Amino acid sequence: MTVKTEQDVYKNFINGEWVESGVEEVYEVTNPADKNDVVGRFPLSTEKDVDKAVKSAHEALLIWKKVPASERAQFIYRFIELLDENKERLGKALCREQGKPLNEALTEVTRGVSEMRFVAGEAVRLEGLTLPSDRRGVINMAVRVPIGVVAAITPWNFPVLTPLRKVIPALICGCTVVLKPATNTPLTSVIITELLEKALLPAGTINLVIGSGRKVGDALVGHPLVKGVSFTGSTQVGRNIYETAAKNFTKVQLELGGNNPAVVAEYQDLEDGASQIVAGCYGNAGQRCTAIGRVIVLDKQADELEKLLVEKIQAFKVGNGMDPDTKIGPVVSESARQTLVNYMELAKKEGAHIVVGGRSLTEGQYQNGYYFEPTLISGVSPDMAVAKEEIFGPVLILIRVSSFDEAITVSNNTEYGLTASVFTDNMNLAYRYLEDVESGMVHINNGTVSEGHMPFGGVKNSGVGPYSIGGTNKDFYTELKVAYIQHK
Ligand code: NAD
Repeated sequence: MTVKTEQDVYKNFINGEWVESGVEEVYEVTNPADKNDVVGRFPLSTEKDVDKAVKSAHEALLIWKKVPASERAQFIYRFIELLDENKERLGKALCREQGKPLNEALTEVTRGVSEMRFVAGEAVRLEGLTLPSDRRGVINMAVRVPIGVVAAITPWNFPVLTPLRKVIPALICGCTVVLKPATNTPLTSVIITELLEKALLPAGTINLVIGSGRKVGDALVGHPLVKGVSFTGSTQVGRNIYETAAKNFTKVQLELGGNNPAVVAEYQDLEDGASQIVAGCYGNAGQRCTAIGRVIVLDKQADELEKLLVEKIQAFKVGNGMDPDTKIGPVVSESARQTLVNYMELAKKEGAHIVVGGRSLTEGQYQNGYYFEPTLISGVSPDMAVAKEEIFGPVLILIRVSSFDEAITVSNNTEYGLTASVFTDNMNLAYRYLEDVESGMVHINNGTVSEGHMPFGGVKNSGVGPYSIGGTNKDFYTELKVAYIQHK
């Protein structure tokens, strides 16, 4: 069945069919590299669409949860083959709707394929628990059962990997799903859903509803038949979701914002440190929750490090992601770029110094896109807003400190606690950092790139709920049912 209406508007996918939203209201998604390139027209769906999708997922649950886990995995293996075959198509759609360079987009899809193979393999390892009973002739056990209908609400920065990391583990665990992609990047979710349909998943197991956070997202979170909300996005929206979900005691998993520090202290190979820091900061134009946002360096090595960072930043080629030489694409939208402009003004007002970059790129090849220069800000003190908040763009903040104790204090001087790194040749400093930094993930002599089969998540205002454990994330998608069995 066709995924678009006669008016060329993409449809929702509900109960195994591509269906028009009941509304007239549609919006256009354009390419952040060229706003004249229309990626597609999408519905601004309503609470009614959400209700239909949730009810269809609720009905499908009765069938899907009874399918043996190893058979559920067979559906997913079929889907993964299709994902692999459609790598190029998905990569190009991702580059076009989100703006990241094509090679980064293809890497995201490839990563999705390999992570989902791991997830599908976990289907047969949804282990429960047995413990000896206090009584003779009694067997005690706890088995895992799916929590029910799950709402997957995703952001625009990894529009292939994030939906996969939610939808596939949920399905493997026996839950059914309603996926709501970010408003900016629905096309990749349409393609993923199409491939799940082609993998012959039973009607209603996966549903897609496209639209705004306020209408579709809110209605999903508040729906009484939704038993779990897996959300990745900003801390502010995460807080609203937590409040709404609490009213129905709905289980939540919230993967939120970050403002990730990289400390450099007693590290000989500054060339390596600088390379890893710029890779950690500017990938995906700095729009990664795990992006390094602040480099905190001991005075002794600060000048040399700053010089190396500037050289590397100036060598980056900014451009359209389809150009193979591009290292940094546009940011996702005009409003994202305006946020960066505002932060630059604030930084100057607070007395910081923009060492390199700091401006929108608007001339020539950049005139139709949302481009922003890769930026380094120095002369920053830890209490400035630019040091404490998540900027979410190609911007690195450099803070000089006079001791390692101060480096730890400054690292922790933010509401966030997602990931952190330390570059040092001194084992004692490395271990102290590991122990004292308030962060869900810590990297030693390593940028902030995580691996899919490892637990992933943050502390403080960076996350709530069970860490998404690479793999099935079974502590979120299942609960334990306890059984006492008496035999004579
Ligand atoms: P966002 O919070 O604006 O939106 C995320 C999703 O929530 C979108 O689908 C949006 O439509 C939806 N939404 C908005 N309002 C809603 C509401 N009231 N109820 C329900 N849903 C609603 O985030 P974004 O701008 O898409 O993404 C950037 C943010 O995501 C950054 O803060 C980044 O750090 C964070 N992020 C975190 C992780 C992580 O794993 N911790 C990963 C990627 C991105």
